[in-house]
Amino acid sequence: MQKAQLSAWKRMMSKFFSPKFRALTPYTPGEQPKDGQYVKLNTNESPFAPSQKAQAAAGEALATLQLYPDPECRALREKMAGILGVKPEQIIFTNGSDEVLNFAFMAFCDSDTPAAFADITYGFYPVFAQLNSVPYTTIPLAEDFSIDVEDYIGLQKTIFIANPNAPTGKVLDLAKIEQIAAANPDNVVVIDEAYIDFGGKSAVGLIEKYKNLLVTGTFSKSRSAAGARLGFGVADEALIADLNTIRYSTNPYNVNALTMALGLGILEDESYTKENCAAIIKNRSYTTERLRALGFEVIESAANFVFAKTDAIGGKALYERLKAKNILVRHFEKERIREYNRITIGTMEQMQQLLQAIEEILAEVTL
Ligand code: PMP
Repeated sequence: MQKAQLSAWKRMMSKFFSPKFRALTPYTPGEQPKDGQYVKLNTNESPFAPSQKAQAAAGEALATLQLYPDPECRALREKMAGILGVKPEQIIFTNGSDEVLNFAFMAFCDSDTPAAFADITYGFYPVFAQLNSVPYTTIPLAEDFSIDVEDYIGLQKTIFIANPNAPTGKVLDLAKIEQIAAANPDNVVVIDEAYIDFGGKSAVGLIEKYKNLLVTGTFSKSRSAAGARLGFGVADEALIADLNTIRYSTNPYNVNALTMALGLGILEDESYTKENCAAIIKNRSYTTERLRALGFEVIESAANFVFAKTDAIGGKALYERLKAKNILVRHFEKERIREYNRITIGTMEQMQQLLQAIEEILAEVTL
């Protein structure tokens, strides 16, 4: 939802709209142009289509769409449990990981238990907090955008940490996550692992030991299925039971039958996912090196994007000039990060197009 659309909705607000939502500022997703005109490096999607096998599995599900999907997502949970080395009862599937994150705000936060997250992190956390009338505090990241574990000891708040973080791509090592989980035994610690397959170490192995740990993941990035909307949460059975109470009170059929079949097909083709991740990691190293050679400061990334800035041109100006050359990246008009752009890592060809456009822009601005 773009800024202009947001103000239009605010202007149109009806007298029936509940006062509790009147000040709500919705999340602004990245631009999703549909004319195919752009090299799209702005929303961290995979540049690779779902595998043929996965597509065929979704196709087969068309023939039984007269039936509701399995609200328990049994086949998908069993398959995923085998891959992650957990029990099916320790997994919940949702409509994108945004949904499990929202469920976590609903289930584990309220005015007595506020939320806490970094000042620079996924922009949906404050929106979910507002939506659910949850007070929240933001904890400033260090100058280099790293997390200081000392800031997260005994907070008495529900903690949300994106690992790797967005939009910086910085990863927190598992020992530090363990320290945070151990130091907040009376609160839920949510580790949002949307980008974990591109270089981080998953905290899923810690859920047996830390009953307060909820790890969330998505099929939108490494698994090439952003359009299908499939996310999940992994935690102790009791936390998953709470999330299911919320899910069954919202929409038990939150994962549709096509997505369920596609998801199963994707999990049956793990080698395809792994190959794609390896390609993204290789293209990320190449892009990072080239951008640095062009004078950019590029944060070391463990995700499928890089966060970069240069003294040669401001963040917004670079975003605009790239857009004029039909390349979309993500710029955040936000304190501390407005000089940066977040660039999704795509195919090598897309990266070459980006780098060539950047070279042209730098030549224009340094004339
Ligand atoms: N967490 C983070 C850190 C993200 O960047 C995103 C993608 N916008 C999500 C969660 C949600 O992704 P999805 O709902 O597509 O699973």
